[in-house]
Order: sequence, then C-alpha cells, then structure tokens
Amino acid sequence: MISAYARGTQALIDLDAVRRNVEFFQSMLSPNTALMAVVKADAYGHGVVPVARAVLAAGAQWLGVAAAEEGEELRAAGVSAPILILGASSAEQVRIALQSQLDLTLFDRDTWDAVQHWGSVLKVRPRVHLKVDTGMGRVGVQPQEVAVEWLDRLAESNVTWQGLMSHLATSDSDEQYTQEQLSRFLDVIEQIRQRQVALPPTIHLANSAAALRFPGTHFNLVRVGIGLYGGRPYAGSPRLWPVMQWVSRVTLVKQVPAGTSIGYGRTYVAPADCTVATLAVGYADGYRRAFSNRAAVLIKGARCPVVGRVSMDQITVVVPQGMSVSVGDQAVLLGEDGTEHILVEDLAVWADTISYEILTGISARVPRLHLAKSTEMDRI
Ligand SMILES: *Cc1c(COP(=O)(O)O)cnc(C)c1O
Repeated sequence: MISAYARGTQALIDLDAVRRNVEFFQSMLSPNTALMAVVKADAYGHGVVPVARAVLAAGAQWLGVAAAEEGEELRAAGVSAPILILGASSAEQVRIALQSQLDLTLFDRDTWDAVQHWGSVLKVRPRVHLKVDTGMGRVGVQPQEVAVEWLDRLAESNVTWQGLMSHLATSDSDEQYTQEQLSRFLDVIEQIRQRQVALPPTIHLANSAAALRFPGTHFNLVRVGIGLYGGRPYAGSPRLWPVMQWVSRVTLVKQVPAGTSIGYGRTYVAPADCTVATLAVGYADGYRRAFSNRAAVLIKGARCPVVGRVSMDQITVVVPQGMSVSVGDQAVLLGEDGTEHILVEDLAVWADTISYEILTGISARVPRLHLAKSTEMDRI
C-alpha cells in the first residue's frame, strides 16, 4: 500500500486559525448568545475530532452534526459538550442518539414515535429541538402546526423540549426573504407565548452569513459552519482566517515542444515550447475534473495554470518561463504561497460550485495534518 504521506498530497489544518474564527464570530454576538460550531461532514472536511476540540477550547458551547453517527464519533473521542443532530434521524439513529446523549432535531411523527419508544426502552429523557419550516421548504413542521399540534405533544411527554429552530434559505443573498423568514419565526414564538407555554431554553435560526449580517436572527444560539473554516459566508463578508492549506508534490518535470497535446482527450495543445510539471493529485482526491484547463496551482509562489484534463490521480501544470522546478517541489492547490494565494472561493468558481462542496469533497485519500501552536485544547 502506498503511504499517502510519502505521496505528498495532504491538507494542513491550522487549528489556531479555527480558534481565531470562533473568536471573531463571538465578537459579533451578545453575551447571551452562544455559538454552535457546525462540524458535520467531518468538520467540512477538516477532521472532526481535532476541530471539535479546538472550537470548544475557543469558547464554542455547542456542536452541530448531520447524523447520529457523527455525534457518536465525538462522544467516543471523549467530547462532552452538547451536540445537536441537525438532520433527520431514522429509528436506528434515534437509538444511537439517545445512547450517546445527543440532542435530536424533530419535525415529523415517525421520529417523534421513535424518540418516545427509545426513550422508554433506554430509560433516558430525550432532548429535542422542534424545527419549523419558515421558508426553506425542506424539513420542518409548518408554522401553524406548532401551536395546534406540537405543543400538546411536547407537553404530555417525558421528553425535554430543549430547542426551537428554523433554517434560512437566503441569508447570504436575499435580505428581504431572510426578514420574511425571521418574522414567521417570531410569529411562531408569539403563538407559543399566547398559549402560555414556556419557550424552550434554546432558540436558534442563524447560520454563518446570518450571524455576521443579521443580529436580529441571533436569539440565544447561532449555528456557524463555513465561517469557522475560513470560507466567506457571503460575497463581501469580512475576511476570516484561512484554515486549510492543501498541497501536493511535483512528480515529473519535462520540456515539451509546441504542438504537444497533454492528457486525456487532448484538450490542451501547447501553443509554444514550455515546461510541464505533473503533480500527485487528481479527481479521486477531490481535485475536481471541472478544474481542467481552468484552475491554477502555486509552485514556489508562482501561479502555474492547470493544463489538460484532471485525471484520477494526476494533474499537469505549465511552469512559468525561466522558473526552475524539480521533482519533489511542493505545489499549493489551496491556500497561500509567498505573496500569492488560492481561496476556496476561487476553486469553487473554477468548478461552478460553492466552497462547501469543494471542502467536503476533498476525499479520504488526502491525509489531514493538524497544526496548532498551543496545546491547550488537549485538555478538553
Ligand atoms: C450546515 C448547517 C448550518 C451551518 O451553515 P453555514 O452556512 O456553514 O454556517 C447551520 N444550520 C443548519 C441546520 C445546517 O444544516
């Protein structure tokens, strides 16, 4: 088996930058608002356990995951902070959630039945967050169902009603629609008050973009994902600390004469004599095929365009004239090199997608190496 480290393609994760991003978000919140670090999908591809420890050390009070199994992994690593499963849970996942003391998001009868069933079988008191669909159009109970149906259900049970939540569809783009969703959410809160039912202790609506743009959406908890990883939550947002540097290595350097075609399908033909370097990364690493003839990498601080098709395990780049490159040299695919940098948003544009998909698409073949100056988080 080939050692991935020896191959030289890896993602370096700066945990100090993650901590600074947590602190930046906290500086935007009132003292009564807690921060949930969203660490689903292996912390957006950054490695969930080290990232969870870093965010908790920096003051995040909650963790958010997509599925029970992700929360179970954190518990197995000794993380004791409250963890909310943000997505749907099957009956089997409800069991895992309760055994691992995870909070559940609730929005349908089947999950409710499973929560009751497994709560009594396991003799635990489940904690649930009722999710209302205020306009995302995906999951959530309808606003009018809360007062007429769910309040009674939650009251008569041996379940702890921990949270009320909703999710924003356009907090990075359409402000007016965000305000509409906020006012529907406030209506639900008002309906609960009118029924003289106590609100649950945790009320949450904001994601990263809303946490930065709309203080009215903060309530007492915000759910921050992309911003923790240095991604820009919306166009024009403040710059956050870059977290991931994704690097590879030069495996071959060769001079090619004008007219040489490079790679599958011959999509690039050298217009002039040039130097081509081959790198040990491809679409099986998450270096998207859509980057073919569009992206660039940084070698010794210089931009080298990706030429020809991205293959499964290799790419080819043109080295600027007069620059000397050798086998073993590092190539930066994402991040800084000297005065140049490639942002995750640049990669997203080159693949016609969003930063989230780039980060979560970096495959398991790419080792994540966690770097931190401080060792304080080892105590969490
Ligand atoms: C993923 C997710 C978030 C985090 O969104 P970002 O845009 O990454 O901050 C917040 N809330 C829910 C329900 C999510 O699923």
